[in-house]
Amino acid sequence: MSKFIFICGGVMSGIGKGVTTASIGRILKSRGYRVTAVKIDPYINVDAGTMNPIEHGEIFVTEDGVECDQDVGNYERFLDQNIPKENYMTTGLIYQTVIERERNMEYGGKCVETIPHIPEEVIKRLDRAAKKAKADFTLIEIGGTVGEYQNAVFLEAGRMMRLMRPKDVIFVLVSYLPVPKMIGEMKTKPTQYAVRSMNSAGIQPDVIVARSVIPLDGPRKKKISIFCNIAPEDVISAPDIKSIYEIPINFEKDKLGYRILAKFGLKYRRKNMADWEQLAKNIKKAKKPVKIGIVGKYFGTGDFTLADSYISVIEALKHASWFHNRKPELIWLNAESYEKTPGLLTELKNFNGIVVPGGFGARGVEGKIKTIEYARKNKIPFLGLCYGLQLAVVEFARNVCGMKNAHTTEISPRAKYAVIDMLPEQLANIKEKRLGGSMRLGAYTCELAPGTKSFKAYGTKLISERHRHRYEVNNDFREKLEKGGMIFSGINPERNLIEIIELKNHPFFVGTQFHPEFKSRPLNPHPLFKEFIKSAIKTN
Ligand code: GLN
Repeated sequence: MSKFIFICGGVMSGIGKGVTTASIGRILKSRGYRVTAVKIDPYINVDAGTMNPIEHGEIFVTEDGVECDQDVGNYERFLDQNIPKENYMTTGLIYQTVIERERNMEYGGKCVETIPHIPEEVIKRLDRAAKKAKADFTLIEIGGTVGEYQNAVFLEAGRMMRLMRPKDVIFVLVSYLPVPKMIGEMKTKPTQYAVRSMNSAGIQPDVIVARSVIPLDGPRKKKISIFCNIAPEDVISAPDIKSIYEIPINFEKDKLGYRILAKFGLKYRRKNMADWEQLAKNIKKAKKPVKIGIVGKYFGTGDFTLADSYISVIEALKHASWFHNRKPELIWLNAESYEKTPGLLTELKNFNGIVVPGGFGARGVEGKIKTIEYARKNKIPFLGLCYGLQLAVVEFARNVCGMKNAHTTEISPRAKYAVIDMLPEQLANIKEKRLGGSMRLGAYTCELAPGTKSFKAYGTKLISERHRHRYEVNNDFREKLEKGGMIFSGINPERNLIEIIELKNHPFFVGTQFHPEFKSRPLNPHPLFKEFIKSAIKTN
């Protein structure tokens, strides 16, 4: 039977609950336990596929094709293991299942009620996830913060589980302790309120992870202990830190692993974190920069710049840079600014490499195409991901193969040269307004052509990568593009779909229809990102 650890948030969101969950997972895994992690999103959306990345952050995709919250990406990166579809749920998904079961008379004529039927469905799914992973520990991160009306049913699920299996369930509260400038002191009161809020849901936290800009000092630890009804040893200091990958090591300084095992009455087990400690050392050691420009559009919200929309791309670039003993310097470049002021494009010369990541819709597209043209002509290492590949094909068709106004039908549905077009089944989805979960999603195989850069990077012929898109390179134009010099180095054998493009006579110009960033891990950087950074380094 699995042990369950619920991780809830206090005071505010965005303080690193996902990374905390992932780090607890790493700590337990390093003691030889089998660990899995579940994310609960308190939204009516049935999955994350329909959410706007600016509002919600990146949409992560699992091997088995579920569009989920970016935190699942953190679990995969920290645990270095794939997380299956059972490990993501939303309010919408739970209600959808319960309502479907009610319509099928599966409740035998009973009144179906929010409590207990919704939490019961949640518990069922948690047990299913634990069983599938044969997990010793199942971590459950509840999105949002305690006290929010919308995550009450999930706290209720936790409370019910604890009641039924008191020895198998604990609660961790990840809370925030502000240090207001005008006061100059760390304040514990908001955390006290968060604990009260949990208490009113019938739950007492077993561990409090105290997030703040600085480490927790003795007096504050004591205060939280007394006011929040928790032993001082169970209050874990979690200051801001340069690299998130150091967090498991930091937690261990406060003996978090030992405390958790003790709570479950488990015997002490030695940890082996040598690989993780080495990673942290490598990150610190990398001093010489490699400067990469990311040309996208999902950055701005009001006056703030958010990098969350591209989190897996960012992490993949970091993993590969550290692998080559370089310090990643990642700069956001707004595609739209190159449309308004093409003269700005020359700034791309200052970069060792350019990434055009995934995207949807028309905004910024011409700017991305201009970027790609600049990178191609000026031999700047280029990596195009999904939309990045599609727009590289558009650019090449227009500017090398003489196909005037070539385009993707996503933007120009009647384009004469529709070099990127939709598969028939996707067209049917759109016509019937079936948009949620209707893309080409999850892992598909890809066969690499010997002698290409991609083949060299992977060092093998058959690979599998994750997808999330509706449009594809149009095979009708394959010959023309090939004649112009484009190489199709990766093909999906089942459907004869183009998966990777590259160019000769260029240090590194590669585009992928899939999202390699989803499979990069800090202990296991992605081969294409490694090759990209390797050629980027050669430019300085
Ligand atoms: N908009 C493109 C498509 O749907 C690319 C999607 C992406 O970059 N993830 O095919």
